[in-house]
Amino acid sequence: MKRPIIPHIGMRIVKTAVAVMLAYSIFAVLDLVYRKDYQGIWGMLGPNYACIACIVCTQSTLGQTLRQGVSRLIGVAVGGTLGVLVLLLGPVLDMPWVKALALGGVCVAGVWFCLLLKRPAACAMACIVPCVILITEVAGDDRFYYAGARIVETVIGVLVALLVNGVLPTNSRPEEPGGGAAGVQRVRLDNTARKLCVIGDPVEHSKSPLLQNTMIEALGLDYVYLCQPVPRGQCAQWLECAKFAGYAGFNATMPHKEELVPLMDELDGDAALFGAVNTVCIREGRAYGYNTDGAGFLRALASEGIAVAGSTVLLLGAGGAAKAVALKLSQAGAEAVYICNRTVEKAQELCALDPAGRLHPAGFDGETLKRLAAKADLLVNCTSLGMAGTAGQFADFSFLDALPRRAPVVDLIYAPAETQLLAQARARGHRTMNGMGLLIHQAVLSLEHFTGTNINPADMEAKIRAVMGE
Ligand code: NAP
Repeated sequence: MKRPIIPHIGMRIVKTAVAVMLAYSIFAVLDLVYRKDYQGIWGMLGPNYACIACIVCTQSTLGQTLRQGVSRLIGVAVGGTLGVLVLLLGPVLDMPWVKALALGGVCVAGVWFCLLLKRPAACAMACIVPCVILITEVAGDDRFYYAGARIVETVIGVLVALLVNGVLPTNSRPEEPGGGAAGVQRVRLDNTARKLCVIGDPVEHSKSPLLQNTMIEALGLDYVYLCQPVPRGQCAQWLECAKFAGYAGFNATMPHKEELVPLMDELDGDAALFGAVNTVCIREGRAYGYNTDGAGFLRALASEGIAVAGSTVLLLGAGGAAKAVALKLSQAGAEAVYICNRTVEKAQELCALDPAGRLHPAGFDGETLKRLAAKADLLVNCTSLGMAGTAGQFADFSFLDALPRRAPVVDLIYAPAETQLLAQARARGHRTMNGMGLLIHQAVLSLEHFTGTNINPADMEAKIRAVMGE
């Protein structure tokens, strides 16, 4: 691409300038510009490190979110504490080699502590602040005032940067073709970012990159999530590539979930039970296979307050999604799950997988659906009927008339947000839930496996629903 002759002054530069001006003005207005006649910490205060913090925060590739700002505040706290602790060594610090060792030590300790807190964005401040405190000619008790002043300045700078980042828009450039549209997630990357992706054939339609990058950004994690087409039958080659390229892991969608099973070094219980892997973590060259669909479905039900234990469930479909949902419902203590499928043999095969014997196969004709709906406490549609982009639709919805009013109706489909089944159920007074909850919760569980962090799904839900346009 041809570079413009006149450099573009982007919003990040504007933000930096505004933040620096604002930070300086605060100190100037309060008459705190290194007034030697003031006592203690006040005499040491000035705008210098506040401006530096503003520059660091607004220039940083990751510095534009609240979480990143908070990370930097944590960095200041960690770095400031370390700097002050090292000052307690006293006059011995005047020896150059002791100071050099101390500088190295505070940097190692600062980075280590921030990584322990899972705050990589805090590392820079955790090193900068103690170095600033230690590299000074100030002596005696004044050193502590000096340290306090640097910490206060830096905190003010970070707060100003946060304010400016929050108030000013992110980008003043016109959107590039294909960029910034709804459903497109832009990520800012550090060179250390660990790679994740979703594989499938086809996979370009996948919402996983949007979901995962939204969570990665919100959590300030140093990961990036890509979309990787892998042709059917080539999972083994892909796994080798992923290991060689240093991927931390990947998700799998159609048609790879079953093919991955024998390629795993270890399988978790659900992946083994469902005979399908949707999440692969690569750790020290070994592949660990998980399946988060069933657990994600249970979490989605729980978040809507829908109880499973002791209930009778009418489950429509016997494909891949139905398998995970049905077996997990059985595990969660459902009294009976009736699997109604167009191809009854597939329903029978699915029911045979249930060690608890709570799954019962049935047909998909109107009479059967009506008979089983009458005794159901919960109805779950796991067929693709009603999904956007497919021609199939329920022949009639009269089986819903037999369903007790208290029974919630769940559709795994999330596009459209309300299928005809859900609309018909809502019109009859049933509580309804679409497949967005499952999509979100299985993704949260996958990211927990990839990163080893605990994620609060409630925090993520609103963000994901917003980017998904719900
Ligand atoms: P699948 O393995 O292809 O299974 C499709 C199911 O739909 C089968 O039981 C199939 O019955 C049934 N079906 C298809 N056309 C039908 C028709 N005209 N009449 C009656 N039954 C019909 O697909 P899947 O992976 O299980 O996915 C099923 C649905 O769940 C899809 O809509 C998918 O989008 C959704 N899903 C959502 C999430 C989420 O995160 N929310 C996750 C996974 C799946 P036969 O066995 O007789 O062919």
